[in-house]
Amino acid sequence: MSRGCPVPEREDTISGLRVRLFEARAAGRTVGFVPTMGFLHAGHCSLIERARAGNDVVVVSIFVNPLQFNPGEDFDDYPRDLERDLRMCADAGADIAFVPDRREMYPEPVATTVHLGTLADVLCGASRAGHFDGVATVVAKLFSIVGECSAYFGEKDFQQLTIVRRMAADLSLPVRVVGCPTVREPDGLALSSRNAYLSEVERSQAPVLRRALESGATLVQAGETSPAAVEAEMAAVIATAPLAQIDYAAAVPVSTLVADGPLRGEVRLLVAVRFGTARLIDNIGCRAG
Ligand code: AMP
Repeated sequence: MSRGCPVPEREDTISGLRVRLFEARAAGRTVGFVPTMGFLHAGHCSLIERARAGNDVVVVSIFVNPLQFNPGEDFDDYPRDLERDLRMCADAGADIAFVPDRREMYPEPVATTVHLGTLADVLCGASRAGHFDGVATVVAKLFSIVGECSAYFGEKDFQQLTIVRRMAADLSLPVRVVGCPTVREPDGLALSSRNAYLSEVERSQAPVLRRALESGATLVQAGETSPAAVEAEMAAVIATAPLAQIDYAAAVPVSTLVADGPLRGEVRLLVAVRFGTARLIDNIGCRAG
């Protein structure tokens, strides 16, 4: 595959992508895969660059997956700009943009879905019922289409990363799942396609998520092991932003994402906060005990 072209080669069909990747692998090339819903930003580009650095062929999928949106959520309004996305893919080093339409991905209503039990039901799964079934199902399908590869996911969506890792392991999928650090604005706000929904005043208050996480992490590092105490600290920081409506603030073991007594070892602090129509999430890792 050549680099430095103004746009990546575009592939809209499952069969076309399969043929290309079959040929690439037959020639001994490794494949890096970055699944996205488009409206790319520097966070997505960091995943593409990481895939570029570690693989011979880099595929980016752009597909706003209807299965992971509930009725009343922002599927119709989700921001889209394919021409810009294709340029950004090329600049970050992608070789192939896989851009299937809805009919290509779901020619029939889906009867088979992937569900991961508790991991999918807590945190964002509690307020977005069925969301992670939709995520796991489309990622399983994309992994099946792309085949053996390294796949790059952002820690920004930590519950999603955990679920995808677990699904790949449980189902022995031939995919190495690689977690990549969250890319942030200078004031600490995690980059997100949904930041486009924020008004100016909401945007000015949104860095409160990062401040809450840092405050929680400081408490854990100072020896606090009570999840409730750490969660209360994060909630108190979030409450200082007048327009913030907290969905959750959680301090949980990294492996289960469910608090089960005092915090020990690897801990993840996660928050979800609404500002108007935008629901923002963020998280941070720390060690307890
Ligand atoms: P999305 O298009 O929102 O489905 O995200 C596609 C991928 O980009 C997921 O693996 C996200 O976790 C990742 N991602 C989104 N925002 C960021 C960010 N700020 N930093 C790093 N990765 C991100």
